[in-house]
Amino acid sequence: MSSLTELSNTDWGNIYWKDELRNNIDSIEGLKKYIDLTPDEEKQLQQVVDHHPMNIPRYYLSLINPNSPNDPVRKLSIPTADELVVAGDMGETTQDPYGDDKHNKGNGILHKYPYSALVVATEYCSMYCRHCFRKRLVGLPNDKTVENFQNAIKYISEHKEIANVVISGGDPFLIDTSLLKEMLSGLADIEHVNYVRIGTRAPVVYPMRFFDDELMDYLKEFNKKKTVYIPTHFNHANEITDVARKAILRIREAGITVNNQAVFLYGVNDTVEDIENLMNGLVRIGINPYYLYQCMPVSRVRNHFQVYLKRGLDIVDKAKQKLDGYAKRFKFIMGHEIGKIEICGRIDDKLILKQLHSEGDKPEDTSRMMIMQLTDTAGWLDDMEQIKI
Ligand code: SF4
Repeated sequence: MSSLTELSNTDWGNIYWKDELRNNIDSIEGLKKYIDLTPDEEKQLQQVVDHHPMNIPRYYLSLINPNSPNDPVRKLSIPTADELVVAGDMGETTQDPYGDDKHNKGNGILHKYPYSALVVATEYCSMYCRHCFRKRLVGLPNDKTVENFQNAIKYISEHKEIANVVISGGDPFLIDTSLLKEMLSGLADIEHVNYVRIGTRAPVVYPMRFFDDELMDYLKEFNKKKTVYIPTHFNHANEITDVARKAILRIREAGITVNNQAVFLYGVNDTVEDIENLMNGLVRIGINPYYLYQCMPVSRVRNHFQVYLKRGLDIVDKAKQKLDGYAKRFKFIMGHEIGKIEICGRIDDKLILKQLHSEGDKPEDTSRMMIMQLTDTAGWLDDMEQIKI
């Protein structure tokens, strides 16, 4: 059996990103080389990966403490039988919690808010995170990479209300550098686009990608024409390694601002100390803590990963008491179908919310305050009654 210790001694900074992808762990047989599994576990995990494929970079696997069954990196990457539960005690689930499907304009474009367009550039990720809210999409064989990108550019050019473009997926940085250059250059000349975001978890799970000089040189040049932001997704301080720090430094050297969008997950980062260490670790390496998402009611995810709102809010508030201004800039939010909602705080059993964005046809909902009747077990907006005042 190869050991995780061997992996943790690897010099990841000197490994060519594309070559390493071939070594990803994507089968139970492959996983058994590193992690002990009983025959029963093997059978259950096979059932899980038949629904939602497994894909774990060896780098990310090396961060697991083999002596801890509750290791957060393990929970984020290795499937468990919990994923066989479609819904469960936490309540209803859906495969499309953000309501993306109804805003799909074809050509890989999702246009929910008038000022932002999201381009689904690929359905491939270097890792298939077990808590992913796009689980229904990622890892599917029909990769749509750039086949419609020229049409997406045309759509964005024709819609002058689009002030920013999010390139997402899947993970856009898993696209070949030459193709990525082609895609981005199409956006450079669209006058009404103020900036471009490239959403990626690669700095966390596949930092080797940012040691590609051709990519970094191009990003630096493109950023001079059109400002680039990189939203990334660190969930735990154990993910903030020296290699990840170097990857982030290279991105920052290209003049790009990095913002973090973490997800609040049961058993992964649901203690005051976890949130405190994560946010402090991010500011230490030059990343702005931006959002902390309440885990969405996603099928095969919600039941084992969602934290009760009441308990979660108290954890976040206690962590904020210990964090300085930059480390606590993040907003605790629900990415709800009706738009993003900030979880502002509670007064006893009254939960105070503020809607941050709303769908294009309901601009009056933006910035509205809501007071909800909080219960001990509510995990999502729809679990609570609104209090009329
Ligand atoms: S990298 Fe992002 S899109 Fe891909 S599986 Fe993870 S959470 Fe989902």
